[in-house]
Amino acid sequence: MTPTRPTWAEVSRNRLLHNYRLLRDLAGTQTELLAVIKANAYGHGLADCARILAAEGAHWLGVTSVEEGVALRRICPQARILVMAGIFPAEAEAVVEHRLTPVLWEPHHLDWLEHAVRRHGKTAAPFPLHLEIDTGMSRQGADPACLSQLLDRLGPASPLYLEAVMTHYHSPQNPEATHLQERALAAAAHAVASRGLQPQFLSAGSSAALLLPNADDSATLAKQISARRMLRTGIALYGYAPCSDSANLQPVLSWKTRVVSLREIDAGTAVGYDATFTAQRPTRLALLPAGYADGLSRLLSNRGSVLLRGQRGPIAGRISMDHTTVDVTNIPGVSIGDEVILIGQQGGEKITAADLAQLTGTIPYEVLCGIAARVPRILVD
Ligand SMILES: *Cc1c(COP(=O)(O)O)cnc(C)c1O
Repeated sequence: MTPTRPTWAEVSRNRLLHNYRLLRDLAGTQTELLAVIKANAYGHGLADCARILAAEGAHWLGVTSVEEGVALRRICPQARILVMAGIFPAEAEAVVEHRLTPVLWEPHHLDWLEHAVRRHGKTAAPFPLHLEIDTGMSRQGADPACLSQLLDRLGPASPLYLEAVMTHYHSPQNPEATHLQERALAAAAHAVASRGLQPQFLSAGSSAALLLPNADDSATLAKQISARRMLRTGIALYGYAPCSDSANLQPVLSWKTRVVSLREIDAGTAVGYDATFTAQRPTRLALLPAGYADGLSRLLSNRGSVLLRGQRGPIAGRISMDHTTVDVTNIPGVSIGDEVILIGQQGGEKITAADLAQLTGTIPYEVLCGIAARVPRILVD
């Protein structure tokens, strides 16, 4: 059954395109821009975002699981698909079969992939992989001290081909921290080059590295090893800058619901679980069919607000699993069926995922990919 509950997210094709074009121009023709569409395109819907970006010329798409990669392959038969978080034991076959490009760093990753490539047999050409180096984030990636054992296995006799040397910056908004990571990356890249391996790409940097001037110098390092720089941008595609919002990015997702019930309560009346809100005056309350099971953080209880009739209505009382109540006493004319903005613009008012993140002590990434699967995503314009 198609969802009929009036809580939905609108995803703007034009805004996604605007952001992508802006980022591509910023990156320039010397840089390969990989569009990160992991986690259901940061909650925006993998299939629609992938189609739009691929049609606009995005050749490289990044996901974090083989499952997402396999789903994406059906949608984008031509794209290069980077699976950025390693592989699990049973996945190497699917990687080869669906021509996914894995980011790897463990010797056992190489074992599994070699085995699958040999079993598959069809691919005469060596199978490409991106090798991640841990340059200081201590999450994924090979310890630089163990790099040579991995490189031993990627010589001319290997069925595998080192297509990219990759790393991830932990604090891309901090040039000093990034510079330290770059030094480690440079050492690894030169170790690779000194073995006669010629990766086509040097892959480093996310949205922040693109938006902040001089955030990193991977372009220079790429030139030194005759590779092309690859930059992996995610959050900025969806309209959020990890640093400043000077870049003219446009938020792609709006999250909406409707007023489904209204009531008048007397001064002194409690609202919601634990009675955390008590009306101080005769109060008009609107009921919204959206709650924390939709991804509306319970931390917004008595803190956040929504937009109705172009004005801000404060959330009154605890957000429930499926419901939220809003004080609309100061907003004249609110009626059942009125459209309500949880994230987005109405009249001159605006609520962004960054605003909700600020109120709940997190980052816009978590707000966006926290919008539950049961909220339908609708492509607009
Ligand atoms: C998520 C991710 C990115 C994109 O980061 P943004 O800050 O969203 O641009 C890039 N590289 C890797 C490895 C990632 O996991």
